[in-house]
Amino acid sequence: MTGPVLVSACLLGRCCRYDGTGKALPELIRLGERRRLVPVCPECLGGLPTPRPPAERQGERVVNQEGDDVTEAYCRGAEQALRIAREQGCTVAVLKERSPSCGAGQIYDGTFRHILTAGDGVTAELLRKNGITVVGESQIHTLL
Ligand code: SF4
Repeated sequence: MTGPVLVSACLLGRCCRYDGTGKALPELIRLGERRRLVPVCPECLGGLPTPRPPAERQGERVVNQEGDDVTEAYCRGAEQALRIAREQGCTVAVLKERSPSCGAGQIYDGTFRHILTAGDGVTAELLRKNGITVVGESQIHTLL
């Protein structure tokens, strides 16, 4: 497989996570030696500050730990990530698992009790619906 890969910016070490951290994933650095990586942070693209309160999906809504409905910012960020993926010609994305934006396959259940449930983050869901293959970071070996 060739072509550029959309990636969660925090997986490249950008400190854009809700708590102001980021952690570079060595396998992603390796992938970057062979393919062009296109980093995005949907939550930042949606206009949210860093740091920010943690948020979880509650059905179609996204709510932060302070009880604010932040769905609009999450949807705006997802649209921006999709726009960038299309502009850059990305057909695959490597995204941070369990995030309410980037999570693929498993996310927290909306109770803020660290309970996982089946589902995608808002951005992962939109990318998939638009034909982009989404790979969680633990599955990156499938691209190496
Ligand atoms: Fe990382 Fe995605 Fe969260 Fe941004 S929105 S910090 S890229 S997991």
